[in-house]
Amino acid sequence: MTFNQLGLSKEILNRLTELGYEQPTPIQEEGITYLLRGRDLLAIANTGTGKTAAFALPMLQKLLVKKEKDNKTYISKLIIAPTRELVLQLEKTIKEYAKYIDVKIGCVYGGSNIKPQIKMVHEKVDILIATTGRLLDLLEQEHLTLSGVDTLVLDEADSMLDMGFIKDVETIMSKLPSLEQNILCSATLGSNIKKLSNKFLVNPKVIEVKAKAKVNDKIEQIAYPVSSDKKLQMLSYLIGSKNMKQVLVFCNTKALADEIVEHLKLDGLKAVATHGGKTPGARKKAITQFKEGQVRVLVATDVAARGLDIVDLSYVINFDLPFLAEDYIHRIGRTARAGNDGTAITLLDQFGMAYMQDIEKFVKQKIPRLDLEGFEVDKKIKMIAKKKIIKTDIKEKKGKTAGAFGKKKASKEQKRMPKQRGKRIVGQRRK
Ligand code: AMP
Repeated sequence: MTFNQLGLSKEILNRLTELGYEQPTPIQEEGITYLLRGRDLLAIANTGTGKTAAFALPMLQKLLVKKEKDNKTYISKLIIAPTRELVLQLEKTIKEYAKYIDVKIGCVYGGSNIKPQIKMVHEKVDILIATTGRLLDLLEQEHLTLSGVDTLVLDEADSMLDMGFIKDVETIMSKLPSLEQNILCSATLGSNIKKLSNKFLVNPKVIEVKAKAKVNDKIEQIAYPVSSDKKLQMLSYLIGSKNMKQVLVFCNTKALADEIVEHLKLDGLKAVATHGGKTPGARKKAITQFKEGQVRVLVATDVAARGLDIVDLSYVINFDLPFLAEDYIHRIGRTARAGNDGTAITLLDQFGMAYMQDIEKFVKQKIPRLDLEGFEVDKKIKMIAKKKIIKTDIKEKKGKTAGAFGKKKASKEQKRMPKQRGKRIVGQRRK
């Protein structure tokens, strides 16, 4: 299914295309369909499954239609989340989706100056995202009213219950008028969530995204912090220095896949790309060439790599991280098939750090960061990484991979690499 089939307006569809969303995730496919039909929703889904768009896009769609009829909305959609971080992240993401829609989105949360938030809620706001405590403060001080709310979302409801916010949530609910639609998102479906959903939802559509978060433990996962402008260089270096016979490289966009191939070819590495911009024939040919060993590197986007099964593939490289944590598992699962070992390497630039944290939460493990000699990142990037970087270098690993470069060879390889082209940042994520 495509986004075009879900009944969304062009303002939304155009934005999704710009954001590089090629097709809806399972929770989006079902969630958008049922929410637009007016059903309540119980979504059992983790961060990384695309749940925000699943509830936010129907909201925006409804506001768009409503605003065509009359322009009077004041906090018609209320989203409650357990933490300030999540509130800010939701605001940022929903504003991204709403770029071409005339809606005002605002957020309120504790631990920061209340005055600008008071000012904001006194002005027009269509979608309000809030933590419970600050919302209650503003209600008590009569800075806002919830009488216009028609849709309520409780996001990460299980965390809200774990953190003891149930009383606050119930107080807020008691101040709401009767609503058109209620949405409850939770990572888990425990008995307390079932109780809450019985109280809060009417005949909900239940969507459960089964977390396939299990990573094959035969896959060694490594991340190399690197600045964006050195990623292409690092990629060639890794392929050469680790003497990779065959490697599948993943990236997020078609244009980037083509650019990576071009760069690898200049470095003398046989590479081919497969992505949604190629004809089915061209994609098939690329995969066959790779499977038959005619090319050393296959560069793919997530959609194009579906169904790709190569039994003795030892390396997968994430040139950038996927938007969805689930895609990370799919990507790295291309290696270590049929009982073999495999290595999944991530080139971790400053734009990937936030995604890395989501992924680590999703797979429930920490992925070690290794310093690669010659590509050390500056202190600022290390600070963004907020993680201790484990010191190592290719030299230490020399004995491990056949033909791995020692220091001398490594610098020779680097000399062979083309100079960086201009100042453009390669692989920079749209935010
Ligand atoms: P969420 O689970 O809502 O926090 O989304 C996780 C990440 O996936 C965010 O960075 C979204 O921008 C991204 N995302 C959501 N839906 C899609 C999609 N259909 N295609 C690609 N990326 C998506």
